[in-house]
Amino acid sequence: MAGLINSEDIAAVKARSSIEDVVREHVTLRSAGPGSLKGLCPFHDEKTPSFNIRPAVGAWHCFGCQEGGDVISFIQKVDHLTFSEAVERLASKLGMELRYEDGARPREEGLGRRSRLIEAHRVAEEYYTELLLSSQAARTARDFLRARDFNSEHVKQFGIGFAPRGGEDLVRHLRAKGFSDDELVTGGIAGRGSRGLYDRFRGRLVWPIREITGDTVGFGARRIFDDDRIEAKYLNTSETPIYKKSTVLYGLDLAKKKISQGRQAVVVEGYTDVMACHLAGVETAVATCGTAFGADHIKTLRRLMRDEAGLAPAKVIFTFDGDAAGQKAAMRAFADDEKWTSQSFVAVEKSGKDPCELRQAGGDPAVQALIEDAVPMFEFAVRTTIKRFDVATAEGRIQAVRAVAPIVASIRDQSLRPEYTREVSGMLGLDVEQVATEVSRAGKIKVEEDARADRNGGDARSGRDGRDDGEPSAAETAGVMPIPDRRDPVVHAERQLLQVLLQFPTVFKPGAIDLLTPDAFSAPAHRAVFDGIRIAHHTGDKANARVWTSAVTEAAPAPVAGFVSELAVDTLPTRMDPNTGLPTSRYVDELFARVRTIALTRRIADAMSEMRRLDHAETPAPERTRELGMQLQTLQRELATIKAGMG
Ligand SMILES: [Zn+2]
Repeated sequence: MAGLINSEDIAAVKARSSIEDVVREHVTLRSAGPGSLKGLCPFHDEKTPSFNIRPAVGAWHCFGCQEGGDVISFIQKVDHLTFSEAVERLASKLGMELRYEDGARPREEGLGRRSRLIEAHRVAEEYYTELLLSSQAARTARDFLRARDFNSEHVKQFGIGFAPRGGEDLVRHLRAKGFSDDELVTGGIAGRGSRGLYDRFRGRLVWPIREITGDTVGFGARRIFDDDRIEAKYLNTSETPIYKKSTVLYGLDLAKKKISQGRQAVVVEGYTDVMACHLAGVETAVATCGTAFGADHIKTLRRLMRDEAGLAPAKVIFTFDGDAAGQKAAMRAFADDEKWTSQSFVAVEKSGKDPCELRQAGGDPAVQALIEDAVPMFEFAVRTTIKRFDVATAEGRIQAVRAVAPIVASIRDQSLRPEYTREVSGMLGLDVEQVATEVSRAGKIKVEEDARADRNGGDARSGRDGRDDGEPSAAETAGVMPIPDRRDPVVHAERQLLQVLLQFPTVFKPGAIDLLTPDAFSAPAHRAVFDGIRIAHHTGDKANARVWTSAVTEAAPAPVAGFVSELAVDTLPTRMDPNTGLPTSRYVDELFARVRTIALTRRIADAMSEMRRLDHAETPAPERTRELGMQLQTLQRELATIKAGMG
């Protein structure tokens, strides 16, 4: 299955794909100096951006978790694809047709499973929408929408559709379009029964669930017929290779820009709520799809909001039903990520209306007001908790303060605690000191629990790392190859030279690279990277920096692959030539001469030291002495030439 794509085509995909565009779909980027961009790493949790890309070179690298690579490895990692799938995905975006080494492979399979499944969803969505807009059978569905103030324009805007009741209409339609039974089942579009395939969604109103890129990867389907044999109000696509309910957010494709610009997101409960919000001008609304809002959803939003030090805190507003289930959800979201509590807000409508109902009852301003009146999650959690107790009695007040204390104790920003402690004491009518004592006691218990969880969790994690695809962990890599010490000026010069070699391969005169030998580099990791450069030098295409960097990565020993990407994206400590955008030739020449000079000096010293040892040896070795003498002459001549050139 994998690895059969024509290698020239792979190179062409790399050369033509914009790593910036691809990364921007997942990471909000900002400038990080000339030719370089940075953002929050999608592969580890962080508050200050250490994920860098250098578009001209087509490389990315995270200085936090040391992950790095090219556009293909980024797609692989972020979307959990195989190498071939990642190449196919990029190719289909570029509109490129790939050739396969075995030639005979039919086009359908050649497109790659992922693109096939996405294509099937696109065709299904079109089919559903067409039916909703024009089919007689979809009248109930249209009535349902009209009753909620949605019209046919909105149907088109959100891609809503109607799944026919027949049972195999969609299966038939997709088969006729060339999709295989396996694809329909794998994609979650059809189920397999004793009498063959059947439509997964029947007689329901369907919403396309899209990932951030806008590709439809699943559907959410609402019950609209009283005689629907499936009782559940909503059915969603089950987990498939392209649909992960723990990460997908309905409406994110529409909301991503505004979320990123305004650093605010609104999390609502249903598809119609997302629609109502967007139509009312709250364009940052998203909803989970058949699952509670969890840690992965938080990660997705955080990335978009650049939740980082130095910026005003990002804000996430949850709208929950006033009912018990909704409140429970709020409390769970609260418990899930304490780090986020100070940025979390809750909007609850007093009469319990959801955004869709609010829009019908009070129009757009009512929806906007709901969001504007959101209260801090903390306050909501405290009030909800206190409500469970009868605070009219001394007994009830004590129980309430003990229930509330862990919430206050979990507020990470310690400067806020006294304020919240005062607030709670006011709500309960207790002494501030009494509340403070309970809070600090709850805080101690919490710390002990965390320590325990860390110990257990830590073990589990390292166990998993050990089995991870046989790839060496960061620690292992560091173990076999010491991290070069950049405080050493020699090492620092070597590093810069490698950076130039990787980022601006064309600034070197032909033959220049051949003048360097691996022992020109003192740091083992630098030597390993240079090995990669020397190998790629004879085969790789240096005219295209992206292709060149990937060629070096492939040629270099595996433990330094991440290091290659680091060197490829890290900013050079020099000013670029404003006319060419390249490092000045003076800088490059000096760097080149410097590293060569250091290397030659080292080799001369080595040769001299061996000569001295031979002079004092018991058995003379005239042959070796003569050899060394000639070597020394050559080395000294080389050194003189460089020095003359520098002068
Ligand atoms: Zn990272």
